[in-house]
Amino acid sequence: MQEKRDTSGCIMIQGPMPIEAERLAARLENVEREETGNFIYYIGTLAGHTVVVAKTSKGMENAAAATAVGIERYRPAAVINQGTAGGHDPALQVGDIVLGARVTNIGNLKTADRPAGAGSDPFAWKPMDVMASEGSAGEDKNAERIRCYEADSALLAAGRSVKDRYTRGRVVEGVIGSANVWNNELDRIAWFHQRYGTSVEEMEGAAAAQICAAYGVPFLCVRVLSNNKTNGGAYDPTTAADCQRFVLELAAAYLRREA
Ligand code: SAH
Repeated sequence: MQEKRDTSGCIMIQGPMPIEAERLAARLENVEREETGNFIYYIGTLAGHTVVVAKTSKGMENAAAATAVGIERYRPAAVINQGTAGGHDPALQVGDIVLGARVTNIGNLKTADRPAGAGSDPFAWKPMDVMASEGSAGEDKNAERIRCYEADSALLAAGRSVKDRYTRGRVVEGVIGSANVWNNELDRIAWFHQRYGTSVEEMEGAAAAQICAAYGVPFLCVRVLSNNKTNGGAYDPTTAADCQRFVLELAAAYLRREA
């Protein structure tokens, strides 16, 4: 058997869909490809540093599992989750990038009590923090809160330092909301924007952040708007490649800083 490569201390860069990972993987040198479950890991080097690009597949479960498997296998010093997202902020245009100063799970919700026949009112739903305690999240009043995962300050600083290298749109900092839901109701989107302060929504960031927090691995989520319902921004998948190009600049800046 081939001797296992020492990847400990590497940067792991995640992308859910092939269009969100393959451009990154193509930039690596000395690449080995390892596939397990729904995940593909490309182990390579970038400017002499070990980088693992992970194609996680879409959604919260895949993101969480790909993060745990990736941490256990490759021992990264930092994880960057990146890809496309939908706008919650009408001021953001398709092609703009959000550095996730905070990431939160917008699918962790508790409904109000309603009897049979009283229908459903999603605007009355409360946030639910599944990590508040080991006890019942449904019964625990202390669990009725929004849990946010903060970006690692050095990764965020690296992102800020290369903002001007991105020419397709602006690079802003904000809150990224994640859930296995694609919201197309403008009132619902506005509710999240007001209540959670979300700039964008996607389906992976908070899941990866939660697992990185559990393992104590520095984390940053970076998302490009591929669509923005709030201002008519039509879906443009070419934004995924622009985001990966920016993330490579960010990773290089982070590695220079570490050197
Ligand atoms: N139109 C794409 C949809 C991809 S599914 C296709 O047919 O392939 C959603 C993926 O895109 C997830 O990985 C998610 O992170 C991201 N995403 C982009 N915009 C989104 C939005 N408005 N809401 C939720 N996820 C979004």
